Amino acid sequence: MKFYVMTLFPEMITGGLSYSILGRAIKSGIVSVEAVNIRDFTEDKHKHVDDYPYGGGAGMVMSCEPIERTYRHLCEKRRLRSRPRVIYLTPQGRVFDQTMAKEFAQEEDLFFLCGHYEGVDERVLDAIVTDRVSIGDYVLSGGELASMVMIDAIARMVPGVLTNEESGSTESFEGNLLEYPQYTRPEVWQGQRVPEVLLSGHHAKIEEWRRQQSILRTWETRPELLDGAELSKKERKFLEEIKKNSGAEM
Ligand code: SAM
Repeated sequence: MKFYVMTLFPEMITGGLSYSILGRAIKSGIVSVEAVNIRDFTEDKHKHVDDYPYGGGAGMVMSCEPIERTYRHLCEKRRLRSRPRVIYLTPQGRVFDQTMAKEFAQEEDLFFLCGHYEGVDERVLDAIVTDRVSIGDYVLSGGELASMVMIDAIARMVPGVLTNEESGSTESFEGNLLEYPQYTRPEVWQGQRVPEVLLSGHHAKIEEWRRQQSILRTWETRPELLDGAELSKKERKFLEEIKKNSGAEM
């Protein structure tokens, strides 16, 4: 899978994504990330990428022309025959989640446009962008961190990026549950013991305990997820018990 990031700060992207699981996936060629500097596609001598907003108001707005040129350059270089998926990072977009990460991971090429200042001239967004995506209800200074968050989450869903041991199948949001609590050595830390069941070597019991912990955690912090969770009859009963004990209405 190939990620292309149109940005004013390409070093942020290449530097930030060169570590850990993603760095390994890039080195092995399973995914690639190309960050292209929009400023390289300006034609004036001062390399302006922004201008004052029509109608007045604070800040500057990124101009259409350098962005469109950057986009065209990438499409031509990749010899793309069909229009690629182009994501504009914006606090006004659909909020990114794991379902979207899986969906985007199906693409072969994925473009990202990082805004700055007050944002980007609407006309170039209408011309090239296919998806407007936010990483949460807060305002960042630029789209770079947001694109890195998305690329990391999407790349994890690309076959071969995670090893078997790192497999995402029990991670949070799988089956609409949060992951169970994890423990490692030592067995006792500051007087706190690791739950006994995890030391039992009894796989079925461990599995049952983990599922119950997942349900409990999800109920405590993200109860709305449970509506879409597939629970066995026994697990439903367990959830009802939790709800009863917490005094919640059923
Ligand atoms: N004036 C814009 C508004 O109120 O919607 C915010 C502009 S923000 C200061 C600059 C850039 O940061 C945006 O163009 C976008 O690319 C990026 N950005 C800010 N918050 C974001 C978020 N929550 N998710 C994704 N991108 C974000």
